[in-house]
This record gives sequence, structure tokens and C-alpha cells, in this order.
Amino acid sequence: MRVAVFSAKAYDRTYLDAANKSAKHDLCYLEAPLSATTAVLACDAQAVCAFVNDTLDAPVLEKLAGEGVRLVALRCAGFNNVDLEAARDLGITVARVPAYSPHAVAEHTIALILAVNRKIHRAYNRVREGNFALDGLVGFDLHGKTVGIVGTGTIGAITAGILKGFGCRVIAHDVKPNPDCEAMGIAYVDRETLLAESDIISLHCPLTPQTHHMIDSAAISRMKKGVMIVNTSRGAVIDTRAVLHGLKSGKIGSLALDVYEEEGDLFFRDLSSTIIEDDVFARLLTFPNVLITGHQAFFTHEALTNIAETTIANIDAFAKTGKAEHEVSIERLA
Ligand code: NAD
Repeated sequence: MRVAVFSAKAYDRTYLDAANKSAKHDLCYLEAPLSATTAVLACDAQAVCAFVNDTLDAPVLEKLAGEGVRLVALRCAGFNNVDLEAARDLGITVARVPAYSPHAVAEHTIALILAVNRKIHRAYNRVREGNFALDGLVGFDLHGKTVGIVGTGTIGAITAGILKGFGCRVIAHDVKPNPDCEAMGIAYVDRETLLAESDIISLHCPLTPQTHHMIDSAAISRMKKGVMIVNTSRGAVIDTRAVLHGLKSGKIGSLALDVYEEEGDLFFRDLSSTIIEDDVFARLLTFPNVLITGHQAFFTHEALTNIAETTIANIDAFAKTGKAEHEVSIERLA
């Protein structure tokens, strides 16, 4: 099957080519992100392979269908960037990689918590410049602190388990409690209680209309002074402008992000020689108590291997049977 792979980086080629060795699909790598302008590049392909910030709204899907595309194989878990209704109406199957390495994301969440708390990002620079002063580097013990996990699916549950190992009191909020977390002794509370009691709030829910800007100024006003907010889920779960105000007022003590609501114009490319035009993002970078990584929580050897193998398996199954292994559709979500 001919597959147009959008937003393809060198590492995507390495892992997809390895996974495709026996299936031998015709993978056509395109560096461009998928958008209304670039959809035409998919010509002759029956499948499109896309990533988190590729646009798969109705106009793009219509163009892809017009080019003969029948399958969208997402090489990620989230599918908030796909108009599933339009895909169904156009007869395009959408498949994803439901879980590639939840440990990768959970472990990166812990790395962010530890680093922003103990100011590792600042200490690293100081020591390189021969500045061994400790002023401004005070952190707090994680042991005994209350961590609120929003969304205890695959990643949230693993994160909760690791934090239990640190001796934290872990509380959680989810529309559907996870029996594994209950077995760990994690108490489910309503959203208001989680906001009010947590020293650290870690977000692990998907981006949906219900979770969009879940962390807004009203939510922040209910939090403890000095709260740490960590987001490795999807950027728009946080209202970034509200968080900026929270940081300026001192209500938010620290912020660690792997995702950002306008990341589509920034992440996954080298912009070090250009001017960042996003003033909200640029302002975030000025805070000493903010640590940002560019959507790299998933980025481990194990995760990239699983992503590539599952993506090829989805394409393979669709080519042979007309059905992908891990389909996502409006009907399945209902
Ligand atoms: P999952 O589907 O296993 O778990 C999500 C959980 O969120 C579920 O338990 C669900 O019931 C809960 N949830 C849904 N709506 C909610 C709401 N309104 N309030 C509270 N909880 C709600 O998903 P996962 O695999 O654990 O992934 C979690 C998030 O991490 C997703 O947003 C995904 O896009 C993101 N992610 C990020 C990266 C990265 O590299 N940063 C990588 C993979 C996944």
C-alpha cells in the first residue's frame, strides 16, 4: 500500500522503515505537516500517516478523499485533531496507536516534577558558568505532599503508582475511576476537592470539549497558593493566559509543560534562528519557575518502536482486510 507519511522526521524514517521490513509498504516520507495546503502531496497514496499536530479537519479530509486516501493511520494515541464525523461520511477509516509506552510519558512527567521542583534547569546552567551559589534553588520534599491526578487512564495510573513510591498522598479525579488505582489506595475526589487539596496537579485526561481549558482562572482561584501544575496531556486542557496570570500573582508556584495549546506553530522543528512570534509562549519562557519541553514525553526507543510497529500493523490489516487493528470512530466512542 502506498502511504504518505506527513511531518516525517529522520527518527520516524528509522523506526518506520525497520517496522516495514517484511510488510514492504511503499512509504513516501514528507517533511511538511498535513494541512489544507499540503494535502495535495498525498497524491497516489491510499493511506496517510499523520502525527499529533497534523490537521485532519473536514476540508483536509475532503481533499485526501479526493486524492483516493482511504485510511488515516495516526502514529499517536490522541485523535483530537481528527474530524471523525467527516472521516466517516467520506468513508475514510481512522486508526491510531492506543498505547505505545505509557511508561515513557509517566516517567517524563516525573522528570518534569523533579526538575522544576529542584530547579535542575537553573542549577545546570549555573554550574556550567562556575556559579555554585544555592540561592533561589530551594525545593520541597515530594514525600508527604498531595498530588492530584486528573485522568487515571493508562498514563495517569502509572504516574500515580510512581508518585505513591515517593511517599506522596495521591488523589484523583476521573469521569470513570480506574479499579487499579482504587486497589493502590488512591482516593477519587470531585474536581473541586482535587483543586483545593493538591500541592501538585498533574493532567492526564484527553482533550475533549469537556476538558478544554479545564484549568482556567476559576479553577486556579480554587488551588493552594504555590501549587505546581504539570501538563503532559494536551496543551488546550490549560488556558495558558489564565496560567500566566496565576504565575505573575504567585498563586502558581511552578509550571511544567510538555504540551502547549498553540504548539502546532512551534514544536518539532528548530526555530532557534527565528523570532518567536507567539507572545504568550515567549512570556512563559521568562519565568524561572516554568519548565517546558517540546512534546517529547513519548520520545523513548521503546515508544518509537511500538508506534512504528502498531502503525505498520494498522496499515497491513487495512490493506489485507479493509479494517485496521486499532480503529477509532464516532460509533466506537459513543
Ligand atoms: P487514556 O484514555 O488511557 O486515559 C485518559 C483518562 O482520562 C481516562 O481514564 C478517562 O476516563 C479520563 N477522562 C476523560 N475525560 C475526563 C474528564 N472530563 N475529567 C477527568 N478525566 C477524564 O489516555 P492515556 O493513554 O493515559 O493518555 C492521556 C493523555 O496523554 C492524552 O491526552 C494523550 O493525548 C496524552 N499523551 C501525551 C503524550 C506526550 O508525548 N506528551 C504521549 C501520549 C499521550
